[in-house]
Amino acid sequence: MRVHVISDIEGVAGIVKWGQTGGENSTLYHEGRKLYTEEINAAVRGAKAAGATEIVVMDCHGAGGDYTFNSLLPDLLDPDCEFVVQNEWTEYTEFLEHGCDAALFVGMHAMAGTPDGVLSHTVSAQAWQSLRFNGVAVGETGINAALCGTWGCPVLLVTGDRATCREATGLLGEGLTTVEVKVGLGRFSARSLSAVRARELIEDGAKRALQDLSAVQPYEPGCPCEIQVDFTTADRLEEYRNRRGVEVTGPLTIVSRADDWWTAWSQFYF
Ligand SMILES: [Zn+2]
Repeated sequence: MRVHVISDIEGVAGIVKWGQTGGENSTLYHEGRKLYTEEINAAVRGAKAAGATEIVVMDCHGAGGDYTFNSLLPDLLDPDCEFVVQNEWTEYTEFLEHGCDAALFVGMHAMAGTPDGVLSHTVSAQAWQSLRFNGVAVGETGINAALCGTWGCPVLLVTGDRATCREATGLLGEGLTTVEVKVGLGRFSARSLSAVRARELIEDGAKRALQDLSAVQPYEPGCPCEIQVDFTTADRLEEYRNRRGVEVTGPLTIVSRADDWWTAWSQFYF
């Protein structure tokens, strides 16, 4: 069984402030990386216990500078996984292309504008107001799920705060296993499980989720596909304006249309 662990840092137990998620000289970030890596290890252990024979971890956290998509602590990672450092988000698809049985999403956060979503945002906390796939509001769980779905891979586990688990179940269905590691009290505050307890639950959740590979259908936003992004300022729209397949439909809004999600996504995002 081939399992893709796709991860972000904002949904890790104990993480509530931006300083824990990036910053070259941040002591808090170093602590956050360790908490993050250990939650990944918990998912890897659970996947192994369920029979996974090949586990590839892909960090999707834009930490800034050379730490972007490079927040995992390699010398702390479980030796039974391999990990990918991307240069651009959604760039690495090889493991999915060769056939992947399941994806496990660890440390996810809620979409931009979620009141009880700890550190909630969509792609860019500064620039992106909202994102829609064929009219359905989605966050980063939706993006990663659509990426997996492009190659027929179902998402079986999502971990993060309560808002993230609610969002993921709403998008992917009741067959999804979720592990709630904290409850947002606001954007920068939460009641959290201890790190050790969160890891126990993630390990168990990963193991349980992989018992039934058909519990969740691969996510497919629909064909043809229209991706709409509302930006927070017109400045940030400019960089996308002239990309092929992209139409500016309002002062802060673009749409990208194509026959399928992956084409619509890649023609505007890269
Ligand atoms: Zn992140």
